[in-house]
Amino acid sequence: MFLTEEQELLQQTVHDFAQNELKPRAAKFDEQEYIDKDVLKSMAELGLMGVCFPEEYDGAGMDTVCYAIAVEEISRVCASTGITLAAHISLGTNPLYLFGTDEQKQKYLPKLCAGEELSSFGLTEPNAGSDAGGTETTAVKTGNEWVLNGTKTFITNGSLAWTSVNTAITDKEKGVHGISSFIVERGTPGFSVGEKIHKMGIRGSDTTELIFEDCRIPEDNLLGNLNEGFKQFMIILDGGRISIGAMALGIAQGALDESVRYAKERQQFGRPIGSFQAIQTMLADMATEVEASRHLVYHAARLKDAGKGYSMQSAMCKMYASEVAMRTTIKAIQIHGGYGYTKEYPIERMFRDAKLTEIGEGTSEIQRIVIARNLMKD
Ligand SMILES: Cc1cc2nc3c(=O)[nH]c(=O)nc-3n(C[C@H](O)[C@H](O)[C@H](O)COP(=O)(O)OP(=O)(O)OC[C@H]3O[C@@H](n4cnc5c(N)ncnc54)[C@H](O)[C@@H]3O)c2cc1C
Repeated sequence: MFLTEEQELLQQTVHDFAQNELKPRAAKFDEQEYIDKDVLKSMAELGLMGVCFPEEYDGAGMDTVCYAIAVEEISRVCASTGITLAAHISLGTNPLYLFGTDEQKQKYLPKLCAGEELSSFGLTEPNAGSDAGGTETTAVKTGNEWVLNGTKTFITNGSLAWTSVNTAITDKEKGVHGISSFIVERGTPGFSVGEKIHKMGIRGSDTTELIFEDCRIPEDNLLGNLNEGFKQFMIILDGGRISIGAMALGIAQGALDESVRYAKERQQFGRPIGSFQAIQTMLADMATEVEASRHLVYHAARLKDAGKGYSMQSAMCKMYASEVAMRTTIKAIQIHGGYGYTKEYPIERMFRDAKLTEIGEGTSEIQRIVIARNLMKD
């Protein structure tokens, strides 16, 4: 895959970090259901927590391709860490960068980009998942404050985040055009983090409910224009899908790496199993689909960097790469035989982690709707 010098350098740096520091601990993060804080600190030192934001906000000033590569290389060994980074950048921090006032950007971005703090994005609710425009959380203006009431669920980085951008209804009559976004800081009275959600995969990542009970925030915490929340989150999700595509790509590449290694090592019938054509066929199919995913993910990232439309391509890369991650991890288990079904090897974890990529930031069914709508629009 053709990369610029900067992208290649970033790739090598993140690859070395992931293989040396992350890989030996990924199973532990899965088991203990959290990521040790020092890992996020190391990522911050590498500039990854603000990799694609401008240097004026303490970001690394790199492009979306670099960001995708970072998520890919990290997810190749630890998808829990990959989604923690992706949610922080694409969902929690990007809305502040895209829609924030100068004051809001100055206040929040430097700490978030430097990785001193994490961010989250509260869109999903118990009754508003794929239909995120069906939000039930309300925000009512009272004097110079907004009063929020409602519950968000499945929020990545929920209990760790300093800032959280949340959608709420500000004009019920206007339907999806009556939704706005609000910045809520940790420790705000009336804002609490609900139960930790225990998951089948990406178990090291933090997933919680966020609860607003007469939560009062200053009027200045409105993000962007009033009643433009729906438009905003469609833009945010377009970008976020590239990172979930990159995460899926990383998981699939990781499963392929393990499978090639195992196929060369494992002997049966007096020969390495990689000498059997049945195993070679699986490896060849896996490698081809992984490479195709990479092309789609990087292509969507390049379109974004070029300032071109990329909504359909981000949906395509997310849908395709997530389904490849599922197919690849299933084949990887098969190649590992009984051992692939045990915790002795990372494959069963990768399989569990892969499933999330078909669900988060829009299910595969929703991606197909996005793609079809783009095809048919005039
Ligand atoms: C680990 C994890 C992390 C997450 N992180 C975040 C986060 O940080 N912030 C956030 O806001 N959300 C987050 N989410 C929520 C995620 O985006 C939603 O789970 C997802 O959008 C699906 O919503 P749902 O779970 O309510 O499923 P539902 O919308 O109830 O869907 C159920 C099924 O119905 C299908 N379906 C629904 N509507 C249609 C339709 N119109 N046509 C065809 N099929 C349809 C779906 O594809 C799915 O198969 C996270 C979820 C998980 C599991």
